[in-house]
Amino acid sequence: MTQSIFLIIDDQKSIAQVLKQKLSEQSHLPIKICNSLAETEMLLATGIKIEVALCDQNLPDAPRGETIHYLLQKHIPTVVFSASFYDPKNSDNQSKKIADFVMKDSPAALDYAVSIMLSLSQNPQRKVWLLSSNQSNYSQKLINMLNLQRYQVSTFEKPQKIQEQLSKERPSIILIEDSNNLHQSEVYHFIEEVRKDYNKNQLPMMICESSEHIYSAIKMMKYGVNDFFNTSFTAEEFYVRLKQNIELSLSYQAIEHISQRDGLTQVLNRRYFFELAEKKFTQLQRNDTQFFVIMADIDHFKNVNDNHGHHKGDEAIIYLAEQLESHFSDYLVGRFGGEEFCVFGALSNQAVLAQQCEQLRTTIEQTTQERLGVHFTLSLGLCSTGTTISEAFSNADSALYRSKNAGRNQLTLC
Ligand code: GH3
Ligand code: MG
Ligand code: MG
Repeated sequence: MTQSIFLIIDDQKSIAQVLKQKLSEQSHLPIKICNSLAETEMLLATGIKIEVALCDQNLPDAPRGETIHYLLQKHIPTVVFSASFYDPKNSDNQSKKIADFVMKDSPAALDYAVSIMLSLSQNPQRKVWLLSSNQSNYSQKLINMLNLQRYQVSTFEKPQKIQEQLSKERPSIILIEDSNNLHQSEVYHFIEEVRKDYNKNQLPMMICESSEHIYSAIKMMKYGVNDFFNTSFTAEEFYVRLKQNIELSLSYQAIEHISQRDGLTQVLNRRYFFELAEKKFTQLQRNDTQFFVIMADIDHFKNVNDNHGHHKGDEAIIYLAEQLESHFSDYLVGRFGGEEFCVFGALSNQAVLAQQCEQLRTTIEQTTQERLGVHFTLSLGLCSTGTTISEAFSNADSALYRSKNAGRNQLTLC
């Protein structure tokens, strides 16, 4: 499949170059510049696939927006970039298909133009769930607007349907439309339920209200909705709020991911591992379910570093993390520190689990030389006793050190 490109169409070559530079700093997609309609036609005649086009409204050979029409006819997602105000309301039906409009009035406009091109390229991966109890004209208008900006839209008539789907996947945002047709208490309950699992940064919600019911929208914001939009808002205002809410949430999630994962191996870091393990421990205790803890540590790892260098040592740690995640994919796997890892979960059968530990130990023993060019072994401790989580970890740690003292490359149970 050929890669699609970003297309910038502007007769002001310096502006086109600045836009290309800014875009290339944030995207790996190829970028082409055309300075006229004729050049654009020649480029498209090659059959090249355009991801998003940013198009100047007036070009010397297309003074009345002919290039925009040409792009829209070809179903290319198009952002209009113009020095004069472009009002889609006063234009023909074809122009209503423009994905967005940017006024060429300040340096900040260049940044916005770049960011909207990037969003339009990423929106097909962003899921917008619309809660709309009846298919009103306004909800159809919303769906059309979301489609124009290439979001993946799903419509739900009942809050319960969204809750069901939420147990399987998480959208980028939830939009609640015509909340007056739903029972207020139903909407409050829905917001409350969603917020039990996801905070405002993890899953943004926006509510749509008419001007007469704005008080209700404000109240919903107090109860966990991030923002509102008004039925009389322009498409531009709706888009900008939607984009802002989604992107804030994505930046938060990126930071959250960094704060929860170990930078070298991407398994849970020690702090987050314990946070999750503690929650799981309490839950298992409440249900009278057994738990287990595994501690695993590479033997004589210092020698790997000393004889093969720190970089090879890092590769060994990454390899062990991958093996742990594939052998214990149903459980929590964390990096305790250095070359020491831990696994926590609900115990169903200690003999089966011990067998899984043995499998991991032999995999490490038998594959490291071939895979990494350095041979090493692994010691493990498996334990399912303890009245507190720290006692359980301390017991598993003692079992690990019994493995070390007994000659390494083995599993000890306690
Ligand atoms: P034992 O069999 O008793 O576990 O001996 P060991 O050599 O594995 O254990 P020791 O704790 O003496 O040494 C661990 C070494 O791991 C020391 C430290 O420099 C190294 N280390 C810790 N973190 C990293 C890391 O992220 N990358 C690399 N390459 N080495 C690390
Ligand atoms: Mg070690
Ligand atoms: Mg160690």
